[in-house]
Amino acid sequence: MAAEVLAQGGAGVTVYDAMLSAGRKFLMAGRGGLNLTHSEPLPVFLPRYRQAMPYLRAAVEAFPPDALRDWSAGLGQLTFVGSSGRVFPKTFKASPLLRAWLRRLDVSGVQFAFRHRWSGWDAEGRLQFQTPDGPRVITPSATVLALGGASWPRLGSDGAWVDCLAAKGIAISKLRPANSGFAVAWSDVFRDRFEGQPLKGVALTIGAHTVRGEAMITRSGVEGGAVYALSAELREAVLGLGQATLMIALRPDLDTAALTTRLSGTRGKQSLANFLRKAAQLSPVGIGLMQEAAIACGRTLAALSPAELANLVNAIPIQLTGVAPIERAISTAGGISFDELDENFMLRKLPGVFAAGEMLDWEAPTGGYLLQASFATGAAAGRGVSAWLASSQS
Ligand SMILES: Cc1cc2nc3c(=O)[nH]c(=O)nc-3n(C[C@H](O)[C@H](O)[C@H](O)COP(=O)(O)OP(=O)(O)OC[C@H]3O[C@@H](n4cnc5c(N)ncnc54)[C@H](O)[C@@H]3O)c2cc1C
Repeated sequence: MAAEVLAQGGAGVTVYDAMLSAGRKFLMAGRGGLNLTHSEPLPVFLPRYRQAMPYLRAAVEAFPPDALRDWSAGLGQLTFVGSSGRVFPKTFKASPLLRAWLRRLDVSGVQFAFRHRWSGWDAEGRLQFQTPDGPRVITPSATVLALGGASWPRLGSDGAWVDCLAAKGIAISKLRPANSGFAVAWSDVFRDRFEGQPLKGVALTIGAHTVRGEAMITRSGVEGGAVYALSAELREAVLGLGQATLMIALRPDLDTAALTTRLSGTRGKQSLANFLRKAAQLSPVGIGLMQEAAIACGRTLAALSPAELANLVNAIPIQLTGVAPIERAISTAGGISFDELDENFMLRKLPGVFAAGEMLDWEAPTGGYLLQASFATGAAAGRGVSAWLASSQS
């Protein structure tokens, strides 16, 4: 986006990328349908960036979700709003959009230099790259760093830039997994039976934070949309205290009294699992979770009264014992501190060097907020470079 803004303003731009081709992570995001942004109004949208909202507000307001949708349409990819309010290209793909974008950048004169791994500055302040043909240095009039976070490193963004910038005295908040899964010590029986099974229509709670949605049982724990939405709170609790309790409500629309009535009926010859499934419409994986929780308290489901069972249905405590590795997270929390940046996304300690995208210290849930902030800060950095070049030439 920075390259596009600058090229449209008449600047000569070269994009250097360590990979063999552009936009690997963007293409990976396309596998899930490419959730470009969200349709909710800005007063609801902006708080998704939490503490970083004040620093991202101007950039997102200058390039808001509607502008991103227009930009996509301008590249031939019309978008639509899904039932959740999320915005996707009608094709549900990233590749046609990326192809059209790269063609337009090419026409506007943007050059690409692939297999160029940036490794910092040399003693003369030149940018250094490792290339298949050996080291290369360049001296641009201005630089935009848009090197991403540290999740899915095989797609290019590996967080190696942290050391280069820290060596220049730039404050960087530690890179941590965001929108990630969590480890749970499932019993062997539960793990073998329910790995890969979804928990649908559940409510997840940690402390004062509750979200509704879907979660997925994995071999090593839990992941999925509702878990990602709570991942900041869960991560801080797990990293701070060594573990956290995630409460799962399987039937969040039924209160305890209604559940108790349903579960007080006669079971007859039915197995307990069949009875629970029919009386409270619980899935086998949900009943398995209840069993795990009961066993963890030294009890069994069969020993619980209808009222105790009803309580458990909507308050199943799951102990999270670790955070899934950043390599498998959808995004990265932490990054360059906003205190290091001026309002144009220029690093105050390195005049002429700008930074944008996921390498900045913000995080957001899934829902299109990640790409929206990456696009918006890229565009803002591009405008910042234009203004800086104009002022340094005058
Ligand atoms: C599986 C998955 C699905 C996702 N789905 C969505 C989604 O649907 N919606 C959404 O909003 N977000 C989604 N995201 C997140 C989104 O893709 C990222 O937030 C976004 O790509 C970040 O953009 P960026 O330009 O800051 O960094 P990146 O897209 O990571 O780009 C950084 C670039 O810098 C290059 N680079 C890194 N280090 C160097 C170096 N030293 N030298 C040279 N080049 C370097 C990399 O090769 C890469 O091309 C998804 C992420 C994943 C992993």
